[in-house]
Amino acid sequence: MNGLYIHVPFCEKKCGYCSFYSVAGRSSKINSWLEALEVEAKKYFYLNGEKIKIKTLYIGGGTPTVLNISQWRKLFEIVNKYFSLEDLIEATSEANPNSLTHEHVKFFSENNFTRISLGVQSLNDDELKILGRLHNSKKALQAMELVKNSKLFLSCDLIFAIPGQNLRTWANSLKNVIKFAGHVSTYQLTLEPDTPLGKKYNNEELNEDGYKFYRYAQFFLPRKNFLQYEISNFAPEGQECLHNIAYWHQENVIALGPSAVSYINGVRYKNPDTLEKYFYAAQKNFPEELLIEREKLTLREKSIELAILSLRTKWGIKRGNLLPEAEKILDSMPDDLFIKSPERIALSPRGMRLGNSIWCELMDL
Ligand code: SF4
Repeated sequence: MNGLYIHVPFCEKKCGYCSFYSVAGRSSKINSWLEALEVEAKKYFYLNGEKIKIKTLYIGGGTPTVLNISQWRKLFEIVNKYFSLEDLIEATSEANPNSLTHEHVKFFSENNFTRISLGVQSLNDDELKILGRLHNSKKALQAMELVKNSKLFLSCDLIFAIPGQNLRTWANSLKNVIKFAGHVSTYQLTLEPDTPLGKKYNNEELNEDGYKFYRYAQFFLPRKNFLQYEISNFAPEGQECLHNIAYWHQENVIALGPSAVSYINGVRYKNPDTLEKYFYAAQKNFPEELLIEREKLTLREKSIELAILSLRTKWGIKRGNLLPEAEKILDSMPDDLFIKSPERIALSPRGMRLGNSIWCELMDL
C-alpha cells in the first residue's frame, strides 16, 4: 500500500517567504503540465504491470485550487486511470483562501476527498500583508466557513514568528482557527536568503523569537483537545493526517510532478525540478538519468532517518528499531526531553521544542 502525492506547481502570486517550487502567472501551462503528469503516472502503471494500490492521496503545491473544475476532472481522471483507489482511506487537497471556490468544495465532496488543508497562515491582516499573501483575514474566514459547511474535514496551516507578530495576534489566530478546523499545522517562518523576505529580515532573530509562539501553541491547543502528535501538528485523537504519518513511518510514497520526491522501498527519487525540465523529461518518458537525484539509502542511513522521522511524532520510536549508538546518544541526553518506556522513546513537549539539536546529534552518527 502506498501514498500518492501530486505536486501542483502553480500559484497566483509568489509569497514573499516561499521557497517551494511553484510558478506564478503561468496558468496557460496547466494543461501541458496535466499531459506531462499523465506520462509520469502511466510510467508507474507500466512498471508495476497493474494499477498500484493507493492508501492515501495528497494533492499539494503550489496552489491546487488555481486549477479550474475541468482541470480537476482531468487530474482525477489520470489518478483513477493509473492507480487503484479502491482501498483509499484519506484524500486531501491543499487550498488557498484566495482561490478556493464553492465549485471546488463541491467537486472534492463528490469525488471522495476527505480533507482540505487550507493555507490560512494568520488571521491578522498586517501579518498576511507582510507574508505577501493574496488573502486577508475576512477571506480566510469565508474559506473556512465554506469548508465547514461541507462534509469535508478542515485542516488549517498557521505561521508563527512573522515580523511584527505578537502573542496576542498569535493567540487570536489559533483561537479563531479552531472554531472551524479539526486539525492545525503550525510552522515557524523560516526565510531562505534568496526570497524577498529573506533579503529583508534576519532569519536568526526571527528564529529566536519563534520559541515563545511555539510554546504558546503547545500550551493552548492541547487544552482545546488538539493534541500535539507531531512537531508541527495538532489534532484530536483519531484526526491525524494519515498521509503525513506514512512519511514519518518511512512508508512508500509515490510523488508526481515537478520537484516532487518519491520514497519507494528505501530509494529516494527527486523529479526534475522546474516545469521546463519536467516537460522535457515527459517527452523522453521520464528516463532515470533526467531525475535530479536517485539516492539508495544504506541500512544504517535508513535506520538513522527512521529515528529522526519517528521522533517527530508522539509515538516516537521502538528501541528495537534504533541503532545501539543512537539509543546510547538519546539515553545520554537530559531526561526531560523524552518520554521513555522500556520499549519506546518519544520526545516530550520540551524535546519537541528542541528537536533540531536532537536531530543534529543523530545525523552526526
Ligand atoms: S501560495 Fe504557498 S506555494 Fe504558493 S507562493 Fe505562497 S507559500 Fe508558496
